[in-house]
Amino acid sequence: MNHDPIPELLPGELKRRVLDAIRRGASMQDIADLKNADVSTPEDAIRALQDGNSRFFSGEAGRPELGANERRAQIMGQTPFAAILACSDSRVPVELVFDQGFGQLFVVRVAGNVVGESGLGTLEYAIRHLDVHLIVVMGHEGCGAVASALLPPEQIALEPENLQKIIARIRPSVESLPPIRDKKARMREAVINNVRRQVNILRQQEVIMEAEASGQIRVIGGFYEIGSGAVDFLIEPEDLQP
Ligand SMILES: [Zn+2]
Repeated sequence: MNHDPIPELLPGELKRRVLDAIRRGASMQDIADLKNADVSTPEDAIRALQDGNSRFFSGEAGRPELGANERRAQIMGQTPFAAILACSDSRVPVELVFDQGFGQLFVVRVAGNVVGESGLGTLEYAIRHLDVHLIVVMGHEGCGAVASALLPPEQIALEPENLQKIIARIRPSVESLPPIRDKKARMREAVINNVRRQVNILRQQEVIMEAEASGQIRVIGGFYEIGSGAVDFLIEPEDLQP
């Protein structure tokens, strides 16, 4: 058992602040309110995810877990720095892929990482009440939901009604694809186009628009390659043009 109240894996600055707070006799609330000082802008948040993913795919992930004291401090609140809309696929565990620990990411997972009512409300909560700095829509290699959207309509019609609704949200992204013969390249393009489309849908929502205009957040995309473990980030406007 780890008796160290502050795990060694906490970033240096945050660890120092938590230790200072404990010495000052701070309450659990005070400790829970301590934000990671390294992340205070959308650009910091992008960098933190890029760095975490590099650690993950190069086999140097910290797999940050918490000691008992720090878990107790988290009872009082959460201060995630980014919200991620990702696919439910079992091969895309978001915190592991970005090498982030408890309390750092606010995650919505739904097949095909599509924007729906509940997911949108969840992201609005992250913006208004958790002050996240970034929203990432993350697709992935070999996405079954996107592959379904490429099937003939008569085959899609055989699926359960609610699943058909998810596929219908993906379908516009794959209808206008340029003809690509290589199957893997075609799937990648379909997944990325779906990410772009969902990013653009999010950007048209009032709460998200306001938060982006004020500089609180940025909305970006990502493509996770299962084989390599690497995430390609779609950050610039030209990357996000459907
Ligand atoms: Zn998927």
